[in-house]
Amino acid sequence: MEYKSLVLKSGRNRSIINRHPWIFSGGVKDLPKSQSGEIIKVEDNHGKLLGYGFYDSQSQITCRIFEFTDKESFFEGDYWEEKLTKIYKWKTELFDKSKTNAYRLVHAEGDNFPGTIIDIYNEVAVVQILIKGTERIKDEIGRILTKLGYKYVFFRVKQTTGKLESVAEQSHWYADSVSMPVMIIENGIKMLVDVEKGQKTGFFLDQRENRRLVGELSRGKKVLNTFSYTGGFSLYALHDGADLVHSVDSSAAAIKLCDQNVDLIFKKAKHESFTEDVFDFLKKMEEDYDIIILDPPAFAKNARSVENAAKGYKNLNLQAMRKIKDGGLIFTFSCSQHIDKDLFRKIVFGAAADAARPIAVLKQLTQPEDHPINIFHPESEYLKGLLLRIG
Ligand code: SAH
Repeated sequence: MEYKSLVLKSGRNRSIINRHPWIFSGGVKDLPKSQSGEIIKVEDNHGKLLGYGFYDSQSQITCRIFEFTDKESFFEGDYWEEKLTKIYKWKTELFDKSKTNAYRLVHAEGDNFPGTIIDIYNEVAVVQILIKGTERIKDEIGRILTKLGYKYVFFRVKQTTGKLESVAEQSHWYADSVSMPVMIIENGIKMLVDVEKGQKTGFFLDQRENRRLVGELSRGKKVLNTFSYTGGFSLYALHDGADLVHSVDSSAAAIKLCDQNVDLIFKKAKHESFTEDVFDFLKKMEEDYDIIILDPPAFAKNARSVENAAKGYKNLNLQAMRKIKDGGLIFTFSCSQHIDKDLFRKIVFGAAADAARPIAVLKQLTQPEDHPINIFHPESEYLKGLLLRIG
């Protein structure tokens, strides 16, 4: 099959040779005569083939490369099946299925699969369609996931994605559907997930190992889980022997599922949930928590909002630092792609300086192995966290 070519401007191929998968419009000499979502060839200005990618004429990112190669015949045959099967093999080897059956199968650029996230919830595979290119191959993805043994496949389209990256589709099942919520098991703990109406693909799998650490440190403690969503951190704390856990989230649907999840592990007496704005809660909260978890949504949605986001993170951290018990622990996170590790640390430093208490970093926290960081695409390292001791 013939693919149309996108030709880079002279001197603009360095990042592509370094395997960064994004091509911005400023670097393009000739655009391909293609429709958005079509697969195109990328060439340097001497006509040398650099790779294949998804074209999008309306996105800021004109092309996302999914294969770096100088071989014309490379992208043929069972390409997608081979690619997905290869990822499937190493990802599934990471987990003992009897303890953890929910994981990220495909982490977009982190797995050299731009524009595509696939999260697995036991028998359900949830495909998050982030770009037009993925939309065009979604039936092929559905077929392969079914062949790999996932019984149900659900395609999710984010509303904002639809606008930004010209994805037209609505969320839907590939073939058979299953009623919500579905039960998963993570590090031996059972939880319910709603992949149809829940946030993102239904659950935040990226916090799996950080949740485990919270559990390990929670015995006999009073724990505040802010931005709790369906209670992930709370369940680990309760499971591992916390005295009392409070979960706070502004979403009533999330808190409802959180309460159902607590019921599954029979720890109702030690848990209380609050459907409330976290900033309001922090203002009037008691000052006797041993552990506070701060896991807000991405405050910086784009590069322009970094400054405001930084203020939000600082304020949040400052409140917790001021009010936590002496000797307490704060787990603080940011999942904003536009705020890197160093900036996040500076923001937390700023809050610590204002709190004027002794504060030490005990651990740097990040995303787990099933959310790999493509070394050529630093943007795929998005989850940053610090475990702090106060006092
Ligand atoms: N820690 C969770 C994931 C948190 S996602 C886990 O491990 O699963 C962020 C959550 O913050 C979402 O559930 C969202 O409903 C909630 N949220 C966003 N803004 C909020 C606010 N101002 N006050 C309370 N909750 C908020």
